[in-house]
Amino acid sequence: PAPPVDGDFYDLAGMLIPEQRELQLKVRAFMETEVQPLVNDYWLKAEFPHELIPKMAALNICGVTYQGYGCPGLPFLMEGILAMEMARVDASIATFFGVQSGLSMGSIYMLGSEAQKQQWLPGMQQMQLIGAFGLTEPEVGSGAAGGLTTTAKRTGDTWVLNGQKKWIGNAPFADVIIIWARDLDDNNVKGFLVKKDTPGLHVEKMQDKMALRIVQNGIITLTDCTVTEADRLEKANTFKDTAEVLRMTRAGVAWEAVGCARGAYENALAYTTQRKQFGKPIAAFQLIQNHLVEMLSNLTAMQTLVFRLSQLQDEGRLTDEHASLAKVFCTLRTRDIVSRAREVMGGNGILLQYNVARFVADSEAIYSYEGTKEINSLIVGRGITGYSAFV
Ligand code: FAD
Repeated sequence: PAPPVDGDFYDLAGMLIPEQRELQLKVRAFMETEVQPLVNDYWLKAEFPHELIPKMAALNICGVTYQGYGCPGLPFLMEGILAMEMARVDASIATFFGVQSGLSMGSIYMLGSEAQKQQWLPGMQQMQLIGAFGLTEPEVGSGAAGGLTTTAKRTGDTWVLNGQKKWIGNAPFADVIIIWARDLDDNNVKGFLVKKDTPGLHVEKMQDKMALRIVQNGIITLTDCTVTEADRLEKANTFKDTAEVLRMTRAGVAWEAVGCARGAYENALAYTTQRKQFGKPIAAFQLIQNHLVEMLSNLTAMQTLVFRLSQLQDEGRLTDEHASLAKVFCTLRTRDIVSRAREVMGGNGILLQYNVARFVADSEAIYSYEGTKEINSLIVGRGITGYSAFV
């Protein structure tokens, strides 16, 4: 019989305390029993399985690291482990959760006023209220820091927002969308909590994606969309504040990449021990074993890297460069791992039902979102040389 398939080769889970390990396995069981059976069908339909939301909420993991407001207040290490567990089965569900718990709740938790936190965080923690994070625009992606064209104009106690956003995850069904816009008076980027159905807010679902098809991305048009000063994120005064949220979530994306790679590796390894050609399991061939070992080497390096990354985060020592390096390394290596996983499965590697093809497609999106390889590399390059190559 084939040995058990486990992509945690150096037993990093063995470093967790029993309650953490229990939670990891609880989320794994949820993903395997509730998500896995329906995920390929929803991916194909490009629809979101809304019936999963109350079940996910019942896990009580949303707002993983935050203190108060009903949030579990766990270490960043657990946030990473849980992101990996979700992405190990499906990267779209991990992304949905990352937008809700990380980008949206994180912006409010890190940059909101006490009243804004009270208003939004408990309902978002329970996943009764869904959030979205609107930074990217049709013409402004990597250059968001200096280039945002969406504007905010203050008159007395109201702000009028105008512009467009693209790619905004969860936006088509979100209850609140955080819109990042340039203040026409001081030219700085500020964040606004825009409730669904606010006049002047129009959200259109993006169609025909070849990756993360379950994630519902929106194109947002703001036409004289008016919010009040009470809806402006109190502590978001410049893009540097926005970047603090992105630093935290980029670390999470590195873990998501690890999850995709792990899911693809484990499925491929299991397949190679079952599939027979020339009278023996293909896992017995040297060239197949070479692929598997290359995959496992990278996967193990990635896991140890993100484990340490989260420890730094828990010690309050995470820098932009740490997060960017992990995001680049893990998403780059994931592309290699998923492609080898597909390769060792031959033709079946491109069939959704064999649970590797989805990872191949989805890792392309993870490679590009939350800062592309180039931008995150340039962030590290700037840090280690002292020269900014992109501003
Ligand atoms: P561009 O910025 O146009 O870049 C194109 C290419 O040029 C890239 O290879 C890039 O690396 C390269 N490039 C750009 N500048 C430089 C430079 N100075 N030097 C070298 N190379 C450079 N955004 C949100 O705000 N909220 C969301 O919820 C969200 N969800 C997303 C979900 C998905 C599935 C995807 C695909 C994207 C999402 N995004 C979201 C947007 C995402 O963050 C952007 O796609 C990303 O920042 C890259 O921007 P861009 O696609 O406009 O590419």
